[in-house]
Amino acid sequence: MLYGIKGQLTLKPTQQAQVLQNIGNARFVWNQFLNMWNQRYGNNPSLPTLGEYDLNKLLPTLKKEYAFLKLSDSTSLQQVSSELAGAFKQFFTNKGHFKHPRFKGKYHARQSYTSKNVNNAIRYENGYLRLPKIGFVRFRCGQTIKGNIKRATICLTPSGIFECSLLVEDESQVITTKTNQSVGIDMGVADLMVLSTGDKMPTIRYDKLLSGKRLYWEKRVARRARLAKAKDIPLSEAKNYQKAKQQRAKVFQKEKNQRMDRLHKLTTTLVKEFDVIVLEDLNTSKMMKNSQLARSIAAQSWREIRTMLAYKCVKYGKELIVVNPYKTSQICSSCGHDGGKQELSIREWLCTSCHDHHDRDINAAKNILSIGLGQALVNQPKPLPVYP
Ligand SMILES: [Zn+2]
Repeated sequence: MLYGIKGQLTLKPTQQAQVLQNIGNARFVWNQFLNMWNQRYGNNPSLPTLGEYDLNKLLPTLKKEYAFLKLSDSTSLQQVSSELAGAFKQFFTNKGHFKHPRFKGKYHARQSYTSKNVNNAIRYENGYLRLPKIGFVRFRCGQTIKGNIKRATICLTPSGIFECSLLVEDESQVITTKTNQSVGIDMGVADLMVLSTGDKMPTIRYDKLLSGKRLYWEKRVARRARLAKAKDIPLSEAKNYQKAKQQRAKVFQKEKNQRMDRLHKLTTTLVKEFDVIVLEDLNTSKMMKNSQLARSIAAQSWREIRTMLAYKCVKYGKELIVVNPYKTSQICSSCGHDGGKQELSIREWLCTSCHDHHDRDINAAKNILSIGLGQALVNQPKPLPVYP
């Protein structure tokens, strides 16, 4: 299976310059190709679309014209062709969902380039990663890298850190003993996860924990932007403004790191402890647009949990089942009696049929588990297909 490994790079000043050159070149080629594409179809929309292969054929000419492109690793420029062709393909097949590809700017938050691994040019040896044109770089990712590295994306984050994401193909599985245990998980806002076993994992609002620091830099970003404007300095050249912006980005990065670290630990524990894990299928993309911050943050974590469980289950040889959450919070998990819709404020209730006392979330988690295992007590819609 394919999966990603992300880590931090420690670069020497010369290597930093080389990485920035590569990022700039990839952006330059993207913008050149995009401009050409726009002109071509502006003149004659009926022309056949350009594919990755056509774009690659234009690279040598472009390199002759702009000598600095030769400083780049050539696979990183081919990758640009592939990405642009892919972006257009998506746009033409689903115009409602995908936007027309746009030009990349020097000051965009995301600055990166991707190198493909050809002839073992990208490899990992004892804590060092070899990258084309850059050489060996200290790489910290907290794990040993097994399997084949397919490609590497080197990225400069808004907080000023160089990161590298590797795409790795690895068929080996982590050997774990089977526990013969299964679990249903109800995901919520106040409690991030409630298990059918009765365990509750509360939501930790890392954004609130760091809100003081964030506010401190938020204010400075705004004030320094005003000052720069008063002095007629463009924001891209206003050094103090840029510094404050980087500090603010660092706070956001820390927040994200803390959240992801916890989610990784929680999901790994789940995969180790249970053989079958049942989740409810939630439309998280809609919820992420929710104006309530708590709900949108929760939705983001739910999505991340599902992605993590999906690949970790494959890696650990466990099973993940995703079910439709229809009526899971109103049916009694003991006798199957439908108690009807209940207000969200009711956290506990008594079944009018069998008189069992239920915690709302634990009852829902139990129902999710029984739907997943195909042991539903009442008529339920069919479980959704297994993810992925
Ligand atoms: Zn009951």
